[in-house]
Amino acid sequence: MKKLGFVLFIAISIALLVLCSYSCDGRYADYFERKIEDMGLINRSTPIKYVYSANPFYVHLKRHYCPRCNGVMKAKYNSTIVNSNSPEAEFYDFSLPDSRLIGDVEFRVGFFVCEDCDYEISFDEMKRLEADKQ
Ligand SMILES: [Zn+2]
Repeated sequence: MKKLGFVLFIAISIALLVLCSYSCDGRYADYFERKIEDMGLINRSTPIKYVYSANPFYVHLKRHYCPRCNGVMKAKYNSTIVNSNSPEAEFYDFSLPDSRLIGDVEFRVGFFVCEDCDYEISFDEMKRLEADKQ
């Protein structure tokens, strides 16, 4: 009777361990996949492509001021889903370094928005304004 209890205890422990490792693995895998998704490398549903007209240092490290109220600008992304077979596809770049995206692709276009007055401006326009000021 004592032996049966011990065996049962071991069996339950193993079952719990297996269950736990499965659920943890699943969670980590999901987290990892989402991280990769965020980087725009792969996606389970709709691939994401970032459209940068400025480098990340310029966007995130340099301070940018609102042309209207001189407030601090924050970078934001507008996302549009475009199908590679749709007429508007010609305005978007579906190419990857070694292949081409097909089907629905989410394009994320960055821009600046003023935290005070909500004024929006593209990276290119901001660069042009800053160059004019100097
Ligand atoms: Zn402003």
